[in-house]
Amino acid sequence: MTQPDPKLLANIRIVLSRTSHPGNIGAAARAMKTMGLSRLYLVDPAVFPNSQADAMAAGSTDLLAQATVCATLAEALAGATLALGVSARRRDIMAEVLTPPEASIRLLTEAQIGPVALVFGNETSGLSNEELSLCQGLVTIAANPDYSSLNLAAAVQVLSHEIRQAWLGHANWPQPEIEAATGDEVERFYGHLEAALAELEFLNHGSPGKLMLKLRRLFARTRLAKEEVNILRGILTAAQEAKRGAVRARNREAE
Ligand code: SAH
Repeated sequence: MTQPDPKLLANIRIVLSRTSHPGNIGAAARAMKTMGLSRLYLVDPAVFPNSQADAMAAGSTDLLAQATVCATLAEALAGATLALGVSARRRDIMAEVLTPPEASIRLLTEAQIGPVALVFGNETSGLSNEELSLCQGLVTIAANPDYSSLNLAAAVQVLSHEIRQAWLGHANWPQPEIEAATGDEVERFYGHLEAALAELEFLNHGSPGKLMLKLRRLFARTRLAKEEVNILRGILTAAQEAKRGAVRARNREAE
């Protein structure tokens, strides 16, 4: 059996969003390094860098030193073709709920092509709707239903361990079925969709309400390919041009 490819682990980002306790950041880094993961992304951490983070990281302070600190989750997901939110709750809002082994297979398959991400929420509030809307799936650790909330770094350890077991167990991965659009390409599509729907007067300017969230959910249920995003944006541009033509014709008539 050939050795598993280290590049796959290097393409997996562990994203901690709005972490309150710096000790958890250090403990998460340790959880990652023990399992061979190295790419730590911190979105708007309350306190970082910090001596408590360093103390809990022990021999993994190199991961803290190399961590990427971002202002927004969208920034942390730039370039990633797959983002999975890790949450004990919130099954309501996402169609696809994966177990840690299923999530590991998905991430490693996609990591052959480029960066992918696992997103962990804040210690008290977990992942927000907005954060989940940037993810294409949800991972839940089946825990005691009477007390299912793991410590943040413990959750990172469970997922990192599953990823390592999956990585060790497969020398060859099937190629992903589609060339998926990256998170930022999909975000630009949503921006274009919202602008076009407003221009077509399908959506009230300034108050897109729940419609955009519903449309995001619709598209999140499928994996959009790069080519499909381009087709959809082409359709939007054609509709915008038709609308502009109609407005010009109406204005000419009024003159
Ligand atoms: N009170 C929060 C829990 C946050 S625990 C809530 O109810 O959402 C901090 C983070 O650890 C969570 O955002 C999630 O990413 C992860 N986590 C904790 N327990 C988990 C579980 N059982 N399954 C999946 N993720 C879990």
